[in-house]
Amino acid sequence: MHELGICDALLRMVRGIARDEELETIRRITVEVGSLSGVVPAYMSDCWEAVTDGTELEGVEFVVEELEGTARCMDCGEEFPADVNRLRCPNCSSEKLTPLTGRDLTLKEILAD
Ligand SMILES: [Zn+2]
Repeated sequence: MHELGICDALLRMVRGIARDEELETIRRITVEVGSLSGVVPAYMSDCWEAVTDGTELEGVEFVVEELEGTARCMDCGEEFPADVNRLRCPNCSSEKLTPLTGRDLTLKEILAD
């Protein structure tokens, strides 16, 4: 479950930003997860709770937004929204696809007082 490692890195990132920007109280953290990133949004919330348990960030609202990824077919050039559960070209049924977007996980926003 690599979500735990990601949340750990995320926690360090949030702390770094909070220190640099002298944020007093963090209210909400929003992350954007691409559908091709391999990260399961539901696990992200669980892992975030686990890594922030007992820290100053415990209980901070944690929002995971899903971003639909897109892929291109290597055979016919079709571009389409990529569904990880069905990675196949809707035009020619080829499985030779290259991901265009949706592979990233980004810290989108930190809302603080
Ligand atoms: Zn195709």
